[in-house]
Amino acid sequence: MSDLLGLNAVAAREALDKKAISAVELTTAYLGAAEATAGLNNYVALTADHALAMAAESDKRIAAGAAGLLEGLPIGVKDLFCTKGISSTACSNILKGFVPPYESTVTANLWAAGGVMLGKLNCDEFAMGSGNETSAYGPAVNPWQGKDKVDLVPGGSSGGSASAVAARSALLATGTDTGGSIRQPAAFCGVVGLKPTYGRCSRWGIVAFASSLDQAGPFTRTVADNALMMMAMASHDAKDSTSTQTPLQDLIGAVGDGVKGMKIGVPKEYVMDGMDSEVVTLWEQGQAWLRDAGAELIDVSLPHTKYALPAYYIIAPAEASSNLARYDGVRYGMRVDAETLDGMYEATRAAGFGEEVQRRIMIGTYVLSAGYYDAYYLKAQKVRRLIKDDFDAAFQTVDALLTPATPSAAFPVGRKIDDPVTNFLNDVFTVPANLAGLPGIAVPGGVTSDCLPLGLQVLGRPFDEASLYRVAGVLEQAAGFTMTPARMAGGAA
Ligand code: GLN
Repeated sequence: MSDLLGLNAVAAREALDKKAISAVELTTAYLGAAEATAGLNNYVALTADHALAMAAESDKRIAAGAAGLLEGLPIGVKDLFCTKGISSTACSNILKGFVPPYESTVTANLWAAGGVMLGKLNCDEFAMGSGNETSAYGPAVNPWQGKDKVDLVPGGSSGGSASAVAARSALLATGTDTGGSIRQPAAFCGVVGLKPTYGRCSRWGIVAFASSLDQAGPFTRTVADNALMMMAMASHDAKDSTSTQTPLQDLIGAVGDGVKGMKIGVPKEYVMDGMDSEVVTLWEQGQAWLRDAGAELIDVSLPHTKYALPAYYIIAPAEASSNLARYDGVRYGMRVDAETLDGMYEATRAAGFGEEVQRRIMIGTYVLSAGYYDAYYLKAQKVRRLIKDDFDAAFQTVDALLTPATPSAAFPVGRKIDDPVTNFLNDVFTVPANLAGLPGIAVPGGVTSDCLPLGLQVLGRPFDEASLYRVAGVLEQAAGFTMTPARMAGGAA
């Protein structure tokens, strides 16, 4: 294995500043890694020339003593982010051929901090899915394998991002999380993923799925790397009216602060039928780690948790059906001609959207229709408020909550895709945070008996990402998760 790929982001920054390595060398190593692991299908476009040109600029800035926070670090970008002059498709056929004339605020922030863009990463179509299996480019694959060597999903929707960071074909990656799409794939691939508080990162230039839930966040190998990337991603943005002016905390400093004196809640409702017993064991282990590190563990109740998933699968499709109305064959990407204008809309949308996206549009249109709005959409919004109230009450007594990230480890490609309801159950532990707008982080905690990663989730108060990093830092240290996947660039360590 190339030593360059073994460096985490913090270590790579140090090596770059000391001129022990160059950004061009580092970028070249990652481009090679991406090619070597192409079978994982986690990239949908590798922008090698662009990456090397950006890396050369980084080397100049380093030489001039003007390095940014992410100077010279190779980053993969979920294909949901618009990147100027570079195809951005949300992994949908309907957007194939769309080349944005603008850059999303989040990615612009990364490049302003010196980050180097490697290419665009695979994801579920319009970020709808839990296994990266609805992508128009085919499924991305998890670099981890169980004993039977069957291909596993990397999770979704940011499956390409998690797969690439775990396989070391991206040092850092962006993701988006509407109902768990950063935390669930992070858990499935044994990497760290943060969904910031709603409003912390600008949504401008990110293809919209469900606007009141969508939030961008970082995928990294370590908690410290995650805090570093987050410092560069977040910003107030006048172009997103929901973007916050609340100042960003010192997230990098928080990572090593420990949890002494912190009160950590354990919600009793985060147990469900059919949940893997190894997940419960890890959760208990996580509680013990935090107790040993000086935190007080407190049982709490979030009584409306069981309504989160049904409420989410009304609200998210409702917003999606509205957001996706813009893909009409006129303004973006694909067009299928027909005799009439309505015919052209219908033919384009029928050919351009995949099955899962069509299902969401139909559900969303139904729950928003005149006769059903009160019974479904309005009711779901009221449930959403109750869920938020549950969290507010819990945060009166605790500083953060510890839960499992997912009810199971990664499952085989193809197993759940034909059964949407089973697939939706993946999100049972992640969806409540989106409904309430709260920050959440997934950290690798251990492996199953089949050697597949499992994650722990920490949830916090709005705009208190620092507490998440404190807790995550302790969990990471206690877990000592050093295993690497079978299908990593350069082979398993
Ligand atoms: N799996 C969830 C869904 O399909 C969440 C997706 C996401 O967070 N983008 O809606």
